[in-house]
Amino acid sequence: MPSWLDAGLRHLWLPYTQMKTARLPLAVERTAGVNIFLADGRSLIDGIASWWTAAHGYNHPDIVQAVGQQAQRMPHVMLGGLVHEPAARLATRLAALAPGDLERVFFAESGSVAVEVALKMAVQYWRNRGEPHRTRFLAFYGGYHGDTAMAMAVTDPEEGMHALFRDYMPRQHFSSLPVTPHDEAVLETTVKGMTHELAGVIVEPLVQGAGGMRFYDPHVLQKVRALCDRHHLLLIADEIFTGFGRTGTLFACEQAGIVPDIMTLSKALTGGVLPLSCTLARQHIFQAFFDDDPEKALMHGPTYMGNALACAAANAALDLFEREPRLQQVREIEQQLTDELAVCRNIKGVKDVRVKGAIGAVELDALSGRDALVSRFVEEGVWLRPLGNVVYLTPPLIIGADDLTRLTTAVAKVLAAP
Ligand SMILES: *Cc1c(COP(=O)(O)O)cnc(C)c1O
Repeated sequence: MPSWLDAGLRHLWLPYTQMKTARLPLAVERTAGVNIFLADGRSLIDGIASWWTAAHGYNHPDIVQAVGQQAQRMPHVMLGGLVHEPAARLATRLAALAPGDLERVFFAESGSVAVEVALKMAVQYWRNRGEPHRTRFLAFYGGYHGDTAMAMAVTDPEEGMHALFRDYMPRQHFSSLPVTPHDEAVLETTVKGMTHELAGVIVEPLVQGAGGMRFYDPHVLQKVRALCDRHHLLLIADEIFTGFGRTGTLFACEQAGIVPDIMTLSKALTGGVLPLSCTLARQHIFQAFFDDDPEKALMHGPTYMGNALACAAANAALDLFEREPRLQQVREIEQQLTDELAVCRNIKGVKDVRVKGAIGAVELDALSGRDALVSRFVEEGVWLRPLGNVVYLTPPLIIGADDLTRLTTAVAKVLAAP
């Protein structure tokens, strides 16, 4: 064990971790491409791209170089009253890439904060338009939107930390996604009874990620959009996981042909190099704030918003999407995952195998010892971390066929003999 690990573990507090009983975390020395190199000399193929961020692989030279050059010139300057080229250029590019007229970009540093901003934006939108009582949201079972208070409040109430913090969070409303006509009718009735207090609806388009890689069809998202239109509710699409190619299109909303009123992005935005997120708003949202009245200005401003290093990384990551065939690579990954995960269907205890874009999920009837399973994967040379009872692959989009086969083989092997 490296000496820094021994010393540091007396002081680090790790995420979602029972510090008393958890296994020792693995000491990482460096990363490159799809590989994580451990201090003990082993290397792992990363099957989850560091929580879905490292879309272009680790240490991509273009992103590293862009960050280095920006660091020489100006690592950071506050965005209050000042503005700089990396943020301006990134906002311009994101506005051009995002669906429809999602043309205003508000930066923050994490996904959860982008969601908080989206929710506040929706509430203040109604306040600015003279409907200050519209402060609640409708969210969907199975959804995940982050760990800060309001983001947690719109995350599935049965899962995660909801129960722990029930008395702390403001109550929101939940419904099933309108998959069947019955769900649709229930959703319609639910919404009808409370439009007076609803500001909007928040949804993860096409894939509920952290909730267990649950997929749903584009027409369901179209129904959600139509519901919002019928009842004059704002639709917030949380593309923090799905954005930047993961589901086969740059943004998942494109597959449904819908434009949300507000959209959040983060995770793969900088290619996993620096923390950055943003909340995009359509013109009609922005117009509700664009006024002579200073109190109608959007009241939010993270200290590090629009950090120049992070924006430089994101601009370099967008260059890679433009220059390299990422979406084609996603199609190839999708085909290979479909072919190679199929064998898992025959393994005892496997409930479902599903693939969408560069996401492969093997759902088990139950998963008791996650840590033990993770250790078995490490023995096979791969880095995977199941969500609930779902073992999933969301590799860097640049992964080669052989490395992907090593991931799928490890999944089938470990699940067959855990
Ligand atoms: C990860 C995630 C978040 C939260 O992002 P953080 O950067 O962890 O705060 C929010 N929404 C979705 C859909 C996510 O996948």
